[in-house]
Amino acid sequence: MMPQSADPVHVVGGGLAGSEAAWQIATRGVPVVLHEMRPQRTTDAHLTDGLAELVCSNSFRSDDPEGNAVGVLHAEMRQAGSLILAAADKNQVPAGGALAVDRDGFSRAVTQALEEHPLIEIRREELATLPPAEWDKVILATGPLTSPALAEAILSLTGETALAFFDAIAPIVHFDSINMGKAWFQSRYDKPGPGGTGADYINCPLDEAQYHAFVDALIAGEKAPMRDFEAKTPYFDGCLPIEVMAERGRETLRFGPMKPVGLTNPHNPAVKAYAIVQLRQDNKLGTLYNMVGFQTKLRHGEQARVFRTIPGLENAEFARLGGLHRNTYLNSPRLLDGTLRLKADPRLRFAGQITGCEGYVESAAVGLMAGRFAAAERHGEMIVPPPLTTAHGALLAHITGGHVEAEEAGAPRSFQPMNINFGLFPPLEEAPRAEPGKRLRGAEKTLAKKKAMAARALAHMAAWLDTPARAA
Ligand SMILES: Cc1cc2nc3c(=O)[nH]c(=O)nc-3n(C[C@H](O)[C@H](O)[C@H](O)COP(=O)(O)OP(=O)(O)OC[C@H]3O[C@@H](n4cnc5c(N)ncnc54)[C@H](O)[C@@H]3O)c2cc1C
Repeated sequence: MMPQSADPVHVVGGGLAGSEAAWQIATRGVPVVLHEMRPQRTTDAHLTDGLAELVCSNSFRSDDPEGNAVGVLHAEMRQAGSLILAAADKNQVPAGGALAVDRDGFSRAVTQALEEHPLIEIRREELATLPPAEWDKVILATGPLTSPALAEAILSLTGETALAFFDAIAPIVHFDSINMGKAWFQSRYDKPGPGGTGADYINCPLDEAQYHAFVDALIAGEKAPMRDFEAKTPYFDGCLPIEVMAERGRETLRFGPMKPVGLTNPHNPAVKAYAIVQLRQDNKLGTLYNMVGFQTKLRHGEQARVFRTIPGLENAEFARLGGLHRNTYLNSPRLLDGTLRLKADPRLRFAGQITGCEGYVESAAVGLMAGRFAAAERHGEMIVPPPLTTAHGALLAHITGGHVEAEEAGAPRSFQPMNINFGLFPPLEEAPRAEPGKRLRGAEKTLAKKKAMAARALAHMAAWLDTPARAA
């Protein structure tokens, strides 16, 4: 039996993250007041007053705990007694290898479990200001569509210039899928810049014919439609979609993100490239690179097809594809500490998509961690975050410090929400071995690596969950 605590933790937002956080806290004997503004006030995407409403797809994506990072996250959440996963499992609908749910049954199950828990009080009200001073422990889990009044209040604490904007996302590529026989490392004019080496970017060269074919493909590519409410939010500074830039003139990209200046191709030094695509390191591990200036609203299938025409990216594997939508999220690597507390006001902890993770499952997983951290704090216990080798730990590290911020003067903030993927996990200590007499190659080798990372994650998560609590 967990000891009980008298003072509640206030959780604001009863979405995927807030519901999971409330559950984890109450399960640890700490009372919770869960504040949800619906139905009193709604968002542009929610349709019901149910907790943990799924605003779009009904899928929690792959449920494969061996070959898929989100499947590993599912498995870890089940190990940790997640309410979101239990409700999803109970309301599953057939979807091949994916975990898809009956959205109404799922939301009802979460709502009922939280309403029936003796330590949880649900208040249907909007928090329109910063939490009152007497709330000494708060989790803010108000999501990508945080009400404007609260978003303004949070903004006043962070010193940032924006919190909600048209989120322009450029694709991110797994480093080991880039053909370095065609691409090369070099910074423009070999400038080391602050903290750089002079060879920080990966460069992919295009000749004139390749460039024009690429521009044509961008202009002809099918774009994702904009939702009504998206049209009301302005673009984030200078983040025009690449296909919009291409439509402005055939040479626009060559004088913008694809300018070929200050770079020499060591594979072919005599020939000057007509245009160059640059990729910048995206995580400290150096396993992921983002395509600089390539924010796009092309449909995902089109992106993979068009971007694989770039020399060096023919076999690119994308950790995430580009997109544009309204989003509210913190510049977390700068603003949050390693246990999701706002450095400027540590009684406030953040969870869910507002921290810069992306997706239903990731939001719930961050809620799970925030809930456990808050409960441990309430019990006077030391907070030990999950190891980096777990999906939870990898996600937490991405949010609170794993991302590498762009260094150019005036660059827009480059931290972008991301789904969990194997590129966020630290490399294996030892490469997976084939059976005696055989060698692992290609897809077989990739799968063996994923399986080994997944097995390591689940073992380390189990050990973390079993670690006895220690006084802070
Ligand atoms: C339009 C759209 C479509 C998306 N589609 C998908 C998808 O298909 N698949 C996927 O995996 N992810 C999707 N996402 C991304 C994201 O995973 C979900 O938005 C997810 O629900 C985020 O979980 P959350 O708990 O952080 O926020 P939410 O689930 O949005 O929960 C936040 C809750 O806080 C409440 N709230 C907001 N402000 C206040 C306030 N001031 N006071 C009290 N309560 C407040 C809201 O009513 C809401 O219930 C989508 C996002 C958007 C915006």
